[in-house]
Amino acid sequence: MKSYKIGLIKGDGIGPEIVDEAIKVLDAISVSQGFNLKYEEMLLGGAAIDEAGVPLPEETIQGVKKCDAVLFGAIGGPKWDGLERHLRPESGLLGLRKVMGTFANLRPAIVYDELINASSLKPEVVKGVDIMVVRELTGGIYFGEPREICSDRAFNTMVYTKEEVRRIAIVAFDIAMKRDKRICSVDKANVLEVSQFWRETVEEVSKDYPEVDLSHMYVDNAAMQLIREPKQFDVILTGNIFGDILSDAASMLSGSIGLLPSASIGNKVGLFEPIHGSAPDIAGQGIANPLATISSASMMLRYALGEIESADKIDGAIKKALREGYRTGDIGDYDAKEICTCSEIGDIVANYSSK
Ligand code: NAD
Repeated sequence: MKSYKIGLIKGDGIGPEIVDEAIKVLDAISVSQGFNLKYEEMLLGGAAIDEAGVPLPEETIQGVKKCDAVLFGAIGGPKWDGLERHLRPESGLLGLRKVMGTFANLRPAIVYDELINASSLKPEVVKGVDIMVVRELTGGIYFGEPREICSDRAFNTMVYTKEEVRRIAIVAFDIAMKRDKRICSVDKANVLEVSQFWRETVEEVSKDYPEVDLSHMYVDNAAMQLIREPKQFDVILTGNIFGDILSDAASMLSGSIGLLPSASIGNKVGLFEPIHGSAPDIAGQGIANPLATISSASMMLRYALGEIESADKIDGAIKKALREGYRTGDIGDYDAKEICTCSEIGDIVANYSSK
């Protein structure tokens, strides 16, 4: 029987509640599909500060390296907001992403038919939207040198090496091959040399993927097109800063922050997490929506472990639960048959996944 080691970082606020529901679903699917998952819990963020005095303990750094994948809830909360920046929970997460070397951030934006009215856009505009934003995560202007702030000016540098562009493009093309085989590469090649270089390099990589239809779009137009006609996109491939902005805009097409997962991959071990934070305002009440985390667990099965059938079953189970009207309170205004607790939704999805 295949066996995988999963690092679990539950984190703070609603983190432990939502990760527990994802484990419930993973346990159900692994039993029904015949593979074995071994979990190892690790500390990060506020929970790590309380226990170990730092937001990213050395045991976590060493621990994640020995895993096949890491499932993460969320970190942070008012209890730790007064700490110095380098000691705050968020610094732990940034540090973890850095040590894991995950250079590709995948952010799906899916609009579920059952929740179509939750979007701030018209139903006919968002119906059927299923986009995957592939964002380069460890290069570009956020990391470029030199960088400086002086009294009368400040500057940052946008740099991409050929290898950085090639490897993120390969991730995007591989994903496109498993989807609708369309990539829109987003840049600002009309004004930036680095974007011109990005475009040429993506074109080179595309020669190895003749089945994939590659187009290019300037980032300002892409921002407009995402709102105007989001269904035109399948995979969006873009750099760090453009992807930061576009993936947030794309995620809001679905209308609810509690539904969307993400994956950071590219190195040996990937990190899978919901896009939302630790929601301290509702922590401990059992009302958090666990679907984004369950969906992140599905991405982990698909992209890290290659358990595609299991991932499809979980995605199908989430859709079925929504179709039948089961909702947590955050999406309770949209065609709900029953308002459920976090744990009840976990039970329902686990049950449907294993059928
Ligand atoms: P947030 O995403 O935690 O919450 C925003 C709003 O959405 C809140 O009203 C919250 O109740 C609601 N919400 C979020 N997730 C939900 C879910 N699963 N179910 C139902 N409702 C949900 O953002 P915030 O309030 O700006 O930040 C709270 C804390 O989380 C801060 O300490 C912040 O630094 C941290 N944070 C962590 C991450 C992360 O761990 N990746 C990301 C963003 C924010």
